Amino acid sequence: MESGMEEIPVKVAVRIRPLLSREVLHNHQVCVRLVPNTQQIIIGKDRVFTFDFVFGKNSTQEEVYTVCIKPLLVSLTEGYNATVFAYGQTGSGKTYTIGGGHIASVAENEKGIIPRAIQELFQHISENRNIDFHVKVSYIEVYKEELRDLLELETSVKELHIREDEKGNTVIVGAKEFQVECADEVISLLESGNAARHTGTTQMNEHSSRSHAIFTISICQKQSAESQRNTDAAQDSSWKSIQMIASKFHFVDLAGSERVTKTGNTGERFKESIQINSGLLALGNVISALGDPKRKSVHIPYRDAKITRILKDSLGGNAKTVMIACISPSSSDFDESLNSLKYANRAK
Ligand code: ADP
Ligand code: MG
Repeated sequence: MESGMEEIPVKVAVRIRPLLSREVLHNHQVCVRLVPNTQQIIIGKDRVFTFDFVFGKNSTQEEVYTVCIKPLLVSLTEGYNATVFAYGQTGSGKTYTIGGGHIASVAENEKGIIPRAIQELFQHISENRNIDFHVKVSYIEVYKEELRDLLELETSVKELHIREDEKGNTVIVGAKEFQVECADEVISLLESGNAARHTGTTQMNEHSSRSHAIFTISICQKQSAESQRNTDAAQDSSWKSIQMIASKFHFVDLAGSERVTKTGNTGERFKESIQINSGLLALGNVISALGDPKRKSVHIPYRDAKITRILKDSLGGNAKTVMIACISPSSSDFDESLNSLKYANRAK
């Protein structure tokens, strides 16, 4: 196969949020723009970057979902693993985009990726009565290279272990998985996990998120017993030899990518930043190695951080991955925005 025709393992999107009202109030200038009718972004006077998808300040939640996530949801129902990450400095729009905030208080059209994906998954399930679906969710946080179960806070960090089973599937031993029957059930689990997310206080943002949050929907499909009796195997050949299809979708709200110096962190906070950034660094290295044309022979450094170990079976291979780099348009965030664009550019 020609190398240009190969499936790209990771698609990269960039989303620029609008200036916030307080930024407008303080007269912040915009330093990042879309180049109209291209997939390019220009930062400062003349630095241009090209990505798979670009979203400007007027982009809607629906647009981001339809373009970036819908194809992954289709893949999930076809039995492939999928992962979406939101990357960027604190305040750039990661949680808004992923949809991990206070869902109940958000208007329908402002809902982010997770609630939309949940809704669409259960829509698909209700339209495919001939298949038995089992859906489970889990919600894990990685904080200072330790795991926390956001759905079962009593579980101590020592009870959670990342393991790879004989088929190469990653499992988090000890993590609570809730079997769910409808979209509302998933939403309320998501909400309770969000409430438990670890936040700290920095000079830059009171509720700056210092952790990676991984919300996972696992599905298991079997042809229902009834439809097995009614269909002869030849008619539905895709099921002929397959007893069961298992796949999962990870929604990852990464820790803020900001550098230590800008937030004025010292002591414990400084150590935190280093550990958090080592996770982002490891993730960048893995994604970059996956994009290497020689990747068959290149070592993919999954083992370097918890976040990459957890996602191992859902990055590369047959898995579909989208990274959404979130960007603040304000001139005061120029350095961080440039860093995020470079990180995203390396992931292509
Ligand atoms: P992060 O999770 O990266 O720290 P948030 O998602 O909390 O950032 O976003 C910071 C603020 O910006 C929030 O008030 C959020 O509502 C707002 N925001 C982010 N992205 C957008 C967007 N695309 N459109 C409108 N408001 C946004
Ligand atoms: Mg956030």
